[in-house]
Amino acid sequence: MKNKKNEEISEEDITEEVHFEIDKDAFKGPFPCCNKTTTKKNKSISHRGFEFHYGVWHCSKCDKEYLDTEQAKRLENFWVLERLLDDKLITIKRSMNFDGKTYFFRFPKELSSHWSRESSVKIKLLTPEKFLVEIQS
Ligand SMILES: [Zn+2]
Repeated sequence: MKNKKNEEISEEDITEEVHFEIDKDAFKGPFPCCNKTTTKKNKSISHRGFEFHYGVWHCSKCDKEYLDTEQAKRLENFWVLERLLDDKLITIKRSMNFDGKTYFFRFPKELSSHWSRESSVKIKLLTPEKFLVEIQS
């Protein structure tokens, strides 16, 4: 995917980057399937020399695999890392604003439309100029 600038970003761009929805309820295994109980199975994927291990709940009858919330979040982080390494993350360029005291920038409304004042922001420092910002609703 090519990088997009400023207002060129659309809702479509954002949703196509989401691989799956993580259920808000704590999804915990083992999950029932085929009138049986699934069992834990270790899996791994590798990308550019990085090996990532995760676990799924496996049904021995139909071969279906289920991800619990924790593993789904870990896998999602790995996919983010994968896109970061391939330089395939959607990039939005914004102008820096300054109100005399604080620097700030605005998020596109396509991203912020479902945020609320009750949401909190978790900022992880990668380098002094690079951050990982997570909106927690
Ligand atoms: Zn099954």
